[in-house]
Amino acid sequence: DEKKRVISFYHERTKAINKELNAFLEISTLPEELSSGPLSGVPYALKDNILARGTRTTCASNILKNYESPYDATVTIRLKNAGAVLLGKTNLDEFAMGSSTENSAFGPTRNPWDLNRMPGGSSGGSAAAVAAGMVPFALGSDTGGSVRQPAAFCGVVGYKPTYGLVSRYGLVAFASSLDQIGPITRCTEDAYTVLRTIAGKDPQDATTVHRKIDFREDKLPEIDLKDIRIAIPADALEFSGLDERVKSRFLEFVERLKRKGAWVSFVELGILKYVVATYYLIAPGEASSNLSRYDGVRYGSRTRDDNYETMIKRNRDSGFGDEVKRRILLGTFTLSSAYYDAYYRRALKMRKMISERIEQVLDTHDFILNPTAPALPGKLGEISDPLSYYLMDIYTIPANLTGGPAISIPIDPVEGLPVGIQLLGKRFADVKLLSTAKVLESIS
Ligand code: GLN
Repeated sequence: DEKKRVISFYHERTKAINKELNAFLEISTLPEELSSGPLSGVPYALKDNILARGTRTTCASNILKNYESPYDATVTIRLKNAGAVLLGKTNLDEFAMGSSTENSAFGPTRNPWDLNRMPGGSSGGSAAAVAAGMVPFALGSDTGGSVRQPAAFCGVVGYKPTYGLVSRYGLVAFASSLDQIGPITRCTEDAYTVLRTIAGKDPQDATTVHRKIDFREDKLPEIDLKDIRIAIPADALEFSGLDERVKSRFLEFVERLKRKGAWVSFVELGILKYVVATYYLIAPGEASSNLSRYDGVRYGSRTRDDNYETMIKRNRDSGFGDEVKRRILLGTFTLSSAYYDAYYRRALKMRKMISERIEQVLDTHDFILNPTAPALPGKLGEISDPLSYYLMDIYTIPANLTGGPAISIPIDPVEGLPVGIQLLGKRFADVKLLSTAKVLESIS
């Protein structure tokens, strides 16, 4: 029937385009029968750090290259129950550590807008797949911007829900207090549809909350821009790493926003210079602990050695890539008893301070608006030092530190390259955030 024709169209298209893009690490075979439900027959893709029975979950790492998903993630079950059809698993930076998908052990993904450029990351495969029309939506994970930044680089919508709204059960943990699964879609309305399907309390993830968000409406409730107060961090626009072309596109958009009657004011956040340092202490700390399970015995590929200790060393040495090792080293160091107070504990204090400042701004404003990323998508292989990458997360990290919802939507491209802007809101203001983003989308 009709639905089956649509799915095979996407399936064929994906198989054909993927040779060029490397957006998918694995393309599934289509099911014989479609199940019913609100998303019946809608194809989608999962970032390859999310479990789906019958697929491998590699995290784009050699250490998990043969790892078969033992069960379905909660998001996978919910999408299945809604009738959605999994088309495959998408490429990422190894264990979601990175911003370009170049840290994949299985080769980088290419940006569909320009094949010589990076798609962003770490959910670069998911973003490229949606941008190239391989699937109408895909899921990614966002620890410091990994859904929003690749969405911005690929000209699509990327949304990180409030922490605790979507279950992390079946998502391979990177930094558990920051990780959240989110949809990459072609428009904000689709992001809402996916959110309604995947959100909710889950007994398998104790950090999920039972909170009455009204998802009964099929469509996003309409809002009037005149009722929305938007803060623009003036200091974000002073950041030296901000590309002038991105800055002027952003400011053009702000002008348009004002003409439409939006209530816009510039504020001094004052905390931006601390967010990258804070994140790169907390995230590697949690990662070093989460990744200790890959010893090649319980998880991961195993090498042979007579001695237990050298066996584990070898497994980890040959299984992990450079960026992952860097994070483990950094995290192990800052969590060690000699340095815990000087680094990790201080970072926790900074996290609290940053969150309080952002909450303060959001007491008098509904949203904070800024460019999603300070730069345009770079050429593959162009950037080699990790610090330049770390700095590029400056605008997306605050949402993970506070736990609030944030969305990236595309505005006018610059020189044929996509530009995204990000709206950040109060925790659990997800529906209002999406409704507002929908209005911004209509004037972008
Ligand atoms: N670029 C950030 C990092 O490398 C964010 C990654 C993410 O959100 N998963 O840690």
